[in-house]
Amino acid sequence: MANEPSSSADPQAIRVDGRATAARVVEQVAEDGRRLTAETGVVPGLATVLVGDDPGSQVYVASKGKKATELGFHSAQHTLAADTDEAALLDLIAQLNADPAIHSILVQLPLPGDLDAKRVIEAIVPEKDVDGLHPINVGRLASGDRRAMVPCTPAGCMILLRDAWDGALSGLSAVVIGRSNLVGKPIAQLLLAENCTVTIAHSRTRDLPAVVRGADIVVAAVGRPEMVRGDWIKPGATVIDVGMNRIPAPERGEGKTRLVGDVAYAEAAAVAGAITPVPGGVGPMTIAMLMANTLTAACRHAGRGAPIFG
Ligand code: NAP
Repeated sequence: MANEPSSSADPQAIRVDGRATAARVVEQVAEDGRRLTAETGVVPGLATVLVGDDPGSQVYVASKGKKATELGFHSAQHTLAADTDEAALLDLIAQLNADPAIHSILVQLPLPGDLDAKRVIEAIVPEKDVDGLHPINVGRLASGDRRAMVPCTPAGCMILLRDAWDGALSGLSAVVIGRSNLVGKPIAQLLLAENCTVTIAHSRTRDLPAVVRGADIVVAAVGRPEMVRGDWIKPGATVIDVGMNRIPAPERGEGKTRLVGDVAYAEAAAVAGAITPVPGGVGPMTIAMLMANTLTAACRHAGRGAPIFG
């Protein structure tokens, strides 16, 4: 396994190496993609849609397109002005839905202005909804239907968790902090499908530390820097930190920032059995699973079964 013992500052926990696991997934996607193309002529195609000029979103979208190109996929990036009206955006989605060279469509969220993300997502055909946000995919995931397109970050978290527990997740107690449609809810569904006993915590949860202390698995998807403290963690638990928070880092120079998770890493790593760092944990898995989902969509389009990644 790619994971390494943590540094002496956190002697107990295994530091879960998301970069190494993501590289393993991407390698498998590349190999399976080459085979699909050789045997059927189908080249997996990803279309990204960015509305507006938010610099962070531009970086995300560019890195997704670059990874797809590296894998030999067809990659089409559509950038629309911030004042694009909904009809024009829906028209682009309709064109991409009909384009046989495109198997997955990613609309970068949040959308600017008055654009209604729900209506835009619902306009994507479920088979090309690579983020798994269309109600059909949400329903398929909840009902255990294998045709579900599973959101990328939750799918990546599950690979890290299966690795950490050698696949033996059944019967474990899991607490997911956060109930967003993109992260918290789908992770809870996936853990339930693995026979974990799942609690979903959120901003109204009473005595969150006590809830977390009972968990063999803690998934933090909150968006609050270092909120989860070391003394919340059950000894030996696995901690998956989805949070990505920029905080000021004056020690690096004036105006500098650094990225931290939702978990106080050093404290939690002193108690946990395994923990994902930020950066280098969940983040790299998200883009790897975007590629995996694109390949899955292309395989289905070609009438083939979807590969299983892990
Ligand atoms: P979100 O939509 O803002 O949801 C945050 C959730 O946290 C909500 O359910 C909220 O509860 C809950 N929450 C807020 N304050 C809380 C508190 N004090 N105690 C307990 N729960 C609290 O965020 P998201 O999209 O799920 O993202 C969560 C984090 O993951 C963010 O830092 C985001 O940047 C990061 N993220 C990372 C990746 C990656 O690739 N690594 C991908 C996606 C997101 P309520 O529902 O009650 O308001």
